[in-house]
Amino acid sequence: MARVHKITRSNKEHTCGHVPTHVIPKGDPYLWAKPGFRTRTPKIRCVDHPFRPSELATGLNAEPMAAQEEFDDTLGTLYRGDYDGLEAAVDAFREALEAYRAARQEALDAWENGNSQFEQYVEEAEEALGYLEDLTIDPFEEEEPEDADSEEWAEWDAQAEDHWDEQITNAEDASASVSL
Ligand SMILES: [Zn+2]
Repeated sequence: MARVHKITRSNKEHTCGHVPTHVIPKGDPYLWAKPGFRTRTPKIRCVDHPFRPSELATGLNAEPMAAQEEFDDTLGTLYRGDYDGLEAAVDAFREALEAYRAARQEALDAWENGNSQFEQYVEEAEEALGYLEDLTIDPFEEEEPEDADSEEWAEWDAQAEDHWDEQITNAEDASASVSL
């Protein structure tokens, strides 16, 4: 994990690399970090757009971390009841973790006589993937009653809301269990 430095008053103009990029005026504070030891150019951010953990990661875990951040963001922005969107998000995160496990395995295989540290990485990647494999999304199947003014409809709606909250909570819990 690259260290983040803060400059309280910049002596020239900088560009915040957050997307979309924007100018940090001279005199304003900014943050910089150099992830990766071959990186010479520091990455710059304004104080309103701090680095996310995946942007500071220097190892194989950078990509699954980014997928996890995207997953967590998506859970907060989906329309309530968008089960297709939720399933797509779970699939994307799970696929990123599958690729991560494969990359960790490949790194281990490169050691002819084994490497206990790399074996542990594979186990951890396996465990992370397990949380997503165990997560199943159960769509709400009850049909909507015809009369939206009825008590029946209100009950249906309450059930639908509870069901959705439960699926989101399960997805949040699964993601919170994944440590990368
Ligand atoms: Zn910014």
